[in-house]
Amino acid sequence: PEHIPTHAAVVVIGAGQAGLAVAYHLRRRGLTPGDDLLVLDANPGAGGAWRHRWPGLTLGGTHRLHDLPGMTDTGLTFTEADPHRPARELVAEYYGAYEDHHDLRVVRPARVTAVRRDGDGYVVECAPGSPVTAVRARVVVSATGTWNRPRLPLVDGREEFSGLQITTADYTDPAPFVGLRVAVVGGGTSALTFLDEVGDVAQDLHWYTRRVPLFHDEEEELTAERGRIAVGIQDEAARAGRPLPSIVAVTGLPRSPLVRRLEGKDRLRREPMFASLDATGAVTADGEHVDLDAIIWATGFRPDLTHLQPLGVVNEVGGIVVEDGRVPDEPGLFLAGYGPQASTISSNRAARVTALTIARLLAGPQA
Ligand code: FAD
Repeated sequence: PEHIPTHAAVVVIGAGQAGLAVAYHLRRRGLTPGDDLLVLDANPGAGGAWRHRWPGLTLGGTHRLHDLPGMTDTGLTFTEADPHRPARELVAEYYGAYEDHHDLRVVRPARVTAVRRDGDGYVVECAPGSPVTAVRARVVVSATGTWNRPRLPLVDGREEFSGLQITTADYTDPAPFVGLRVAVVGGGTSALTFLDEVGDVAQDLHWYTRRVPLFHDEEEELTAERGRIAVGIQDEAARAGRPLPSIVAVTGLPRSPLVRRLEGKDRLRREPMFASLDATGAVTADGEHVDLDAIIWATGFRPDLTHLQPLGVVNEVGGIVVEDGRVPDEPGLFLAGYGPQASTISSNRAARVTALTIARLLAGPQA
């Protein structure tokens, strides 16, 4: 087996879009894989969280995936890929080709369990069974995404409910819901997908959201503007160390082909969030009982920061102060793909700046 170093100038945790983009820019700045740069990823293969998305999510069904930086010379691009193919397959192939092309040598499956301070750097510890147990690093880039931490709202009686409960991260296909009375909770694109796929096979379907969903037909310019406002709100929360707010609450939902299909099927009959759950279903704010066999929680995700707990930078509300991808209290710690960087386009842009800052830090104060 290939030798895996136990020291590196920079350790990148996570090989999704955010981690790969930072690794690419660090390579361009002269860092070599191995001695200078080590990318660790918990998954057994390439693709980041996209490996785990449901098979029915095609490339054409995503909000648009932006190409990684430095991919044009390989001829691979999401723009020209088959929109009917499952995104999980395409992204895994694409990221795999990217890792090879730029010689990123991602070490996997290596789940990082803890990052601890060690002199002027850090020790990055991995779960037992990983190809490497601990790596010492001067700089750590945490790019772990959100997929491992689905957000569940606090609802009285959730443990009492005896039916099936899954989150977006568990969903694969509608088969388990055939003939059931199903509630879909949440106001984002994932919830809409479940209304479509599960709604076709369920005996009864309810859609609960906290806010009234906002659909809009509009010019691309206005959509982009809404996106910028949402990113600004994320950035403000990140700088203040607050938990990150929902993006869809700000951007609303574009009237996509999926939305139009749901309108055609008369499936967009949203009900206000229920007040509590019991063994056999939900109780509405008016005290009415709704019988349910299954609940799908499509209620978003939180950033996965568990491994940063030993550094004491994660506060009691689960927030972390992040300014321009950096943790001010911890000069060697960077967060990629966090908050305002949590889309394929914004993580690409931020990666260049992060790599430049890291290169300067490694060069020392004279640089
Ligand atoms: P991820 O892709 O989640 O990658 C994180 C990587 O870190 C994973 O490989 C994971 O295994 C690894 N990891 C996690 N914890 C550890 C650990 N402790 N140790 C080691 N490795 C670890 N964005 C768009 O731009 N367009 C879209 O259409 C779009 N659709 C989306 C649909 C859904 C259902 C969801 C949930 C999100 C969507 N997003 C979309 C947002 C999307 O997730 C991001 O754009 C982007 O792909 C996230 O990249 P990332 O690198 O931050 O995270």
